[in-house]
Amino acid sequence: MGKRNAAVDMRAGRRTTGAAGVVGRGRREGNRLMKEFFAAQSAAAEEGRQAAYSFVMGSAAEVLRAFDLPVVYPEINSLQTAVHHEALDYLNRAEDYGYSTDVCGYVKADVGAHLDGGRLLGGRIPRPALVLATNTCLTYVKWVEIWERIYGCPVFVLDLPGERAASADGSVREPHPDDVAYVRGELEELVALCQQVTGRSFDPDRLRESMAETARMSEHWREALRLNRRRPAPFNAMGDAITFMGVGNAYRGTPEGVRYFRELSEEMQAKADAGLGSLPEERFRLHFSGAACYPAFRAFLDLFTSWGGVFVQSEYLSYASGGLHLDLPYDDADPLGSLARQMLLASQRSYTHLPFSHAQLAEECREWSCDGIVFHSTKSCRTTSASMADFREYLIRQRSIPSLLIESDLVDPRYWSEAQVKNRVDAFFEALESQRAASRGA
Ligand code: SF4
Repeated sequence: MGKRNAAVDMRAGRRTTGAAGVVGRGRREGNRLMKEFFAAQSAAAEEGRQAAYSFVMGSAAEVLRAFDLPVVYPEINSLQTAVHHEALDYLNRAEDYGYSTDVCGYVKADVGAHLDGGRLLGGRIPRPALVLATNTCLTYVKWVEIWERIYGCPVFVLDLPGERAASADGSVREPHPDDVAYVRGELEELVALCQQVTGRSFDPDRLRESMAETARMSEHWREALRLNRRRPAPFNAMGDAITFMGVGNAYRGTPEGVRYFRELSEEMQAKADAGLGSLPEERFRLHFSGAACYPAFRAFLDLFTSWGGVFVQSEYLSYASGGLHLDLPYDDADPLGSLARQMLLASQRSYTHLPFSHAQLAEECREWSCDGIVFHSTKSCRTTSASMADFREYLIRQRSIPSLLIESDLVDPRYWSEAQVKNRVDAFFEALESQRAASRGA
């Protein structure tokens, strides 16, 4: 490392040679790329260009890219309304229209935007030329029907068979060949629909290129995730990592996505080598299960970081990454078959395993050396909140892993009570402190 890059982190008193030029790059670049992504979405809407809507769990973005269809991710749009503290306007509009308070807030924030002519936070959402959902969340299947009614667009629901026998330890297992063949057949139908909608013929080389880029993105992301096992962990899995996930979806299967994740893993390597964590002092290492609290994103995180608590791993990074955390098998000779296998592998953590993820969570707590795990049960998302009470019971009784269960929402600010959540978080850390003191005494 050249002298030019040498720096000293005064707070931690550590020499950060080599890390000075790259620390924070993933967050800054991620924010820039996401701004560009939303600007491109608005430009497509203004120019009346075709777009496809798809979801982060099983987006098949590589197929859509092969037809030059810009991909709109409604979940990402909805969470933006919460992050910008404007979700309530969108939710109210949908509820005034007749949507129940029980309906997932992501759906209602999106409906609110479409009821307003597709206007979203000063930008626009393009009209869908086609919409695609998988059965990884059953809300997806009803959500696409809303767009079908509004825009009369074709709807494609890709049925991903569940695992034939869920593995007891929660590990990812090779999908059954018949299931791969079944999903491959569905993907061929999706290709035919894309040809019909766009009037273009299918170029398998475009799909190959895009899938190869996704595989490279996954390789770099897995390296960054591995580096978070270091102490201190270079990034917060529920802080900056949420931006990383945004880029992972928005730029999936693109050269920009590969560059971003390559630079991200370089940044994390430099931080790990320099002993730099996401906080000046990492006192507690935590796992996170459930969705983020977007209406109070910073306040939520601060409740933990103020105690020196860092989320070093998160279940969110599995299902919200569309499988980027997995070693994605890719066979150049059969790109559609490869995509079918990848979608089946990724769906295990976002579909089959979500209600049975206790063993996997315990294993990850061990691998990332976690002091405890936080469950965030959300009013909107029963898919990710299912079975949390049972998981807690298992982790506490069978694996002696301390845990905390808190409740709020991922988009609706009406379910956020800072005082209430703070009480519970403080009590959790006090218990961890006394446990630590007791074990030191022993
Ligand atoms: S229920 Fe959960 S997974 Fe399904 S759309 Fe809503 S937030 Fe997403």
